Formats: sequence, structure tokens, C-alpha cells
Amino acid sequence: MKIIDTHCDVLYKLQKEKRRKKTLLNFRRAHELAANLERLKQGKVFVQFFAIFVDPTIPQSEKWPAACEQIDLFYHEIMALNPEMKHIRSWSELTKLKAGEIGAILTLEGVDSIGSDLEKLHYLYEQGVLSIGLTWNKANLAADGALDRRHGGLTSFGEEIIALNNDHSVLTDLSHLSELSFWDVLSCARYPIASHSNARTICDHPRNLSDIQLHALFSKKGLINLTFYPPFISTDYAEKTTKIEDLLRHIDYICSLGGKEYLGFGSDFDGIDLFIEGLAHAGEYNSLIDNLRLYYSDKEIKGFSPNNFLNFLERGTGDVR
Ligand SMILES: [Zn+2]
Repeated sequence: MKIIDTHCDVLYKLQKEKRRKKTLLNFRRAHELAANLERLKQGKVFVQFFAIFVDPTIPQSEKWPAACEQIDLFYHEIMALNPEMKHIRSWSELTKLKAGEIGAILTLEGVDSIGSDLEKLHYLYEQGVLSIGLTWNKANLAADGALDRRHGGLTSFGEEIIALNNDHSVLTDLSHLSELSFWDVLSCARYPIASHSNARTICDHPRNLSDIQLHALFSKKGLINLTFYPPFISTDYAEKTTKIEDLLRHIDYICSLGGKEYLGFGSDFDGIDLFIEGLAHAGEYNSLIDNLRLYYSDKEIKGFSPNNFLNFLERGTGDVR
């Protein structure tokens, strides 16, 4: 089974360790990295998305340098030192991956670092950024986030970014958006994807999507890729160990809503500090697949990864206004 994982925070963790402890984690084998190269191989991950995530609470003047430092870490620590890693800079390169190679995709989680400067956005496109989430939980110049109190939506600057994403065949990420932003983005994004979110009916959390949101997403042929973060899987995660079966409840439920062809995985490894039992790093994807085999056919599982994602890329939503 080939896994496409649409979210991890390896770059942020590499940067944190570099800045705080003055050490560079070895991407190939550092045990601190849940999505290190050895674990990606072990879990049969064939495409991993790497988010550029800048802490929104640092001063604005430090955000762009922090984003650029993560891009440098991507090139120097992940790509340059590991010949099996292939930087996917355009979607057509996905199909050219050879056996044993792992595709690496740069994404941007929150556009705070570009300020109001679209030149910086163009620079990111040139660096091969292929998926952009407008915000991380809190409001910025582009959109309001999932954990804002004012529950606002998309701004005209955010709309401009989505139009550029559409022109560049870059995905627009729905995870972390406020409800209103979700609806605004869904109405104009050609490639809408919730890269790491779950079903709100199963676990009531503002980072998860409600039934009505999921129905709308599926009717636009957009994707929801499930995150492995226990607080987004079970409301009683603090009292009870979260198990793979708990994640399967989200999969079953999303399939029951008609989402079987619009479902995938976006673990959030290295951005999370709590784990599903038996699914604590990328090497343990095999346990998830073994569990899925108890209930789903090979064809269905291959749909969850990689085929749903590949089909999504091929079609886009096709009806962008
Ligand atoms: Zn996130």
C-alpha cells in the first residue's frame, strides 16, 4: 500500500531543535522525528507533505526569515543528504517517482509570514510550494481561523491568494479555517483539501468538519485527510488511550456520508505530542493498514491512499467561479 501523507511538521521541529538546542536532527534516523526517512520507508509512505509553519505569535519581522530558514532546512537536511527523497515541484512529477523514492512536497500552513506581499507568495510558488492553508487557527490578513472568537471569513487578500493558487494548480487547505472561512474558500478553491482534520460528529472539536461541511466538500469533490491527533479523534482522549479503532470510526462515518472516494491521511506527525496507540510514527502506518484490512477491500484501502488523492489532482473541482 502506498501512503500519501498530506501533513507533517518535520521542518518546524528541525528548526526548533536547531534554535533551542543548537543541534540538527538527522532526518534519516533521528528518533525524535516521527516522520524520519527510515520510518517513512518502513510505513511505505511514498509521498510526504512538509509544512512550513511559523509560530504566529513571533514578531511579524521575524516570520518571513523563519519561513525561509525552514525552506533551507528542507533543501539542506532533507533533500541534499538523502538521495531517495525527490522534491516534487509540480504535480506531474508525482507520477514519475521510481520504486524506492519518496516524494517530498512543500506546503505552507498559514500565510502570516508573507505579510501583505504577494511577491513573497510568488517566491514560495517558485520554491515548489504546492499547497497553502491561509491561516493556523487565528485570524490574519487572509482569513479567520478555527479557534477565533469572532468567527469571521475570507478577506479580499485571501481571495486573491486562492485565485493565484488556482492559477498555479496549488491546493488550498481547509484545515484550521473558521466555519465561515471554510465556506468562502470552498466556493472559490479549485483544489480544496482539509489536509489534517476529522469528523466533528464523531469528535466535537472546531478543527474537525461537520456533516454539512463534509457533504459540501464531497459535492465539490474535495478531500478530507485524517489526522492522528487524539484530541481530534475522541472527546475522551484524556481518560482513555486512543486506539486505531477510534480512528476507524471516523473513516466508517465519513464513508457512510458518501466520502469513501474523498478520504485520505494527513498524520500531523512531528506537530503532535499525543499519539494513537500503535500509530505513533510513520513506520506504524502498517498497523493502520492491517486494521483497515479487517473491514475494507484492498481496492477501498488503495482508494484512501494513494488513489483518492491522485484522482483529486486529476480532476480539480472543475466548477470554480
Ligand atoms: Zn496544523
